[in-house]
Amino acid sequence: MFLLSFQQTRITVATYVEHFQDIFAWDLNIGTLDGFNPELGWIRYDLRKLYHIHRTYELKRKRLQSLASKKPSIKKILKKYSMRERNEVRDFTHKLTTEISKKYADYIHAFEDLHKEAMLNDSREHNRIIKKSNWKTIVKLMSYKSSIMLIDPRNTTKRCSRCSEINNINGEIYECKKCSLKINRHLNAAVNIYMDAKRLKPSIETFRELTKNIKNLLEPTIIDVKL
Ligand SMILES: [Zn+2]
Repeated sequence: MFLLSFQQTRITVATYVEHFQDIFAWDLNIGTLDGFNPELGWIRYDLRKLYHIHRTYELKRKRLQSLASKKPSIKKILKKYSMRERNEVRDFTHKLTTEISKKYADYIHAFEDLHKEAMLNDSREHNRIIKKSNWKTIVKLMSYKSSIMLIDPRNTTKRCSRCSEINNINGEIYECKKCSLKINRHLNAAVNIYMDAKRLKPSIETFRELTKNIKNLLEPTIIDVKL
């Protein structure tokens, strides 16, 4: 009898099927989930609803928290809010991951191995937003429904997917100071994740081949807003 841990099973499965299945690379962000595959192009899912759920309950709780010490009944309401928030997040993340797993069933889905805690910094505003992400939940649910692969997140955002130069990012458009590539920052990250998953080295030829089905590097090929 074979007893494999979750980690071992995932790696074994991913290595074995690598030759038959292509990779779908996903860049997880606060407002969007951006997917890339050379044949299908750049696919975007809107995640703003997820942020909105957290924000709504955050505000509801804030209004009541100052009164909680005086009125024991308020604690009950706060608990109810937390439960509702959790349920709404669970519904959304389940819908999203089921949709992706069904629609793109033939692919291995590559995600960055993100640790929310490591992404926190000195900015309260930045941290407030990061804490509202449900990246781990999305990746975990995807691992139940599909084959997944986890990629080292180092430089996937800052590296140029055409010439591998490391650039600083300002805003939505990634601009490479070495090769002058202009590309949406999330697409750049998703192409990098794809290349890391396939162990491809960035080059002008590779980039041209991978993005030949993408007409505009600044606008998603498909935006999925049904969720
Ligand atoms: Zn470049």
